[in-house]
Amino acid sequence: MSRRGILFVMTGASGVGKDTIRQAALPEIDNLFYSISATTRTKRPGELHGKHYYFYDPASFQELIDNDGLLEHAEYVGDYYGTPSAPVKEALERGQDVLLELELVGAREVKRKLPEAIMLFIAPPNLIELDRRLRGRGTDSEQRIQKRLARAREEIKAVKEFDYVVVNDMLVTAVRDFCSIIYAERLRTRHLSPGDVANFLKEL
Ligand code: 5GP
Repeated sequence: MSRRGILFVMTGASGVGKDTIRQAALPEIDNLFYSISATTRTKRPGELHGKHYYFYDPASFQELIDNDGLLEHAEYVGDYYGTPSAPVKEALERGQDVLLELELVGAREVKRKLPEAIMLFIAPPNLIELDRRLRGRGTDSEQRIQKRLARAREEIKAVKEFDYVVVNDMLVTAVRDFCSIIYAERLRTRHLSPGDVANFLKEL
């Protein structure tokens, strides 16, 4: 029987570059399923339902919660975000590794439910740079930027709760670090199936 998939949770302040790292890293990594989140936030220009997020109105999002359809959910700067559970569960069961991109509250919830999850924190080189990146995106009002920055400070304080930290200063370095974590975790002996162990032993 193949091993169960490994669950990776990536967290880090809004604007830190989680999406950019993921988009650059995913083509380099086989067998990694990216979980598309549900949200009540309005679409940014160019965002598509089913590709970037599943965009729901608050009533439909509440329905998902009521029907136990979300592995975790959290409020973030006035909107709700959540991870549809079925695709994650199915991928893990068929032996595919899974990547979730979550803010801190949701990441903690996943860790509580699934303690074997591997937790990665993406940190900005500094807060001035984070401020610059958030403004450069040009999608949020000043008030929302301030709220996102306040939330970022809270998230950075929690860095020691994570297994790994990647500083996104130079993108190529951050992508290399991110890929290294995924590859190294896959090589852990605890993922060896009884069949793999038997194979090693038969050579002795
Ligand atoms: P944004 O609005 O910038 O796309 O996302 C805001 C924050 O919500 C980011 O930190 C992002 O990682 C987080 N987020 C995205 N999807 C989910 C989710 O399914 N659950 C939780 N808890 N956070 C999410």
